[in-house]
Amino acid sequence: MCDWEEFQFVCGHNSSRLLSYCHFARTDPYHQCFGVKVIKHTWVQNVACQPCIDATRAAAMKRAARGGR
Ligand SMILES: [Zn+2]
Ligand SMILES: [Zn+2]
Repeated sequence: MCDWEEFQFVCGHNSSRLLSYCHFARTDPYHQCFGVKVIKHTWVQNVACQPCIDATRAAAMKRAARGGR
């Protein structure tokens, strides 16, 4: 039961980041955890996630490259 924090983005995606391993994961050679994730914090972001930002930027760049308005 490792500790995680979760980020929620406006695009509807979310990602989680490991805060600390529990005892089981720490002693496992591959740091595998067979327990449930414990979300310690949930951070609500008022931006889209990075892949969505990248996709939006790429689409805008493609539109600009085409020269259309
Ligand atoms: Zn764990
Ligand atoms: Zn997204």
